[in-house]
Amino acid sequence: GAAKLELQQAPDEILGLATAFNEMTVRLSGAWEQQRQFVGNVSHELRTPLTVVLGYLQSLLRRGDNLSNHQQHAVETAIAETDRTIRMLQDLLDLARADSGNLHFRHSPVVLNTLVAEVIEMSQKVSKYPIEMMATTADIVALADQDRLMQVLINLVDNAIKYSNGDISISIAQTADLAIIHIRDRGIGIALEHQNRIFERFYRAEESSTRSRDGTGLGLAIVKSLIEGMNGKITLRSKPGEGSVFTIALPIWKSSP
Ligand code: ADP
Repeated sequence: GAAKLELQQAPDEILGLATAFNEMTVRLSGAWEQQRQFVGNVSHELRTPLTVVLGYLQSLLRRGDNLSNHQQHAVETAIAETDRTIRMLQDLLDLARADSGNLHFRHSPVVLNTLVAEVIEMSQKVSKYPIEMMATTADIVALADQDRLMQVLINLVDNAIKYSNGDISISIAQTADLAIIHIRDRGIGIALEHQNRIFERFYRAEESSTRSRDGTGLGLAIVKSLIEGMNGKITLRSKPGEGSVFTIALPIWKSSP
């Protein structure tokens, strides 16, 4: 809830200030809520026409046997940028939903060994580096939303692939109360000054001038909000030039006695 100043026996000026402060807080949270709705609505409204544009561009490319090289390149670039914009809008929509508490989670027991194996099988197709799984033979079962956890893992592995120079590994472990997943890459790493901010919306560690990898800077913000929606936590350990480890901790599923 919003902060509220309550002062019983204070001089008039202070009471006046407290009242002004309280009114400001109410107005600010109203403005914040409006902004959230605005972002949600805009994302939704823009996605539909862009999807139409993407469809036309794709059919142009498919039937374009008389396109010059230059024209073909132009259409391909337009497709890539439209596609990226649509993904960004979807991300913004997800974040707006998460903010307003309208992102619903379906918690159930999730066998991490199976889920991680599936994620690796899918991601291996788009990775030039081997992705390995490290797990004990006994299944580790978390209480989570299976689809959203899958989305989180795919996102983190995609990043690992994007920023890696070597093998990638996903390991699963458990403590008395927590199921732990580590996603490790041997990539460019993240400098200390970026580590706290990397989960912020639109934050990207690379300088935009040297930015070679496409992306929106929204992926990790969504990952964090999804993990927190599952009552979990995500942390990061990284060293520039050595690589990064993202660690997810989720409640362990306990069968009722
Ligand atoms: P995007 O990848 O779309 O830019 P993300 O929110 O997924 O957005 O990541 C934010 C930034 O964090 C990235 O731009 C990149 O600078 C940095 N980053 C994320 N994952 C890694 C990683 N595994 N190794 C190095 N840097 C990373």
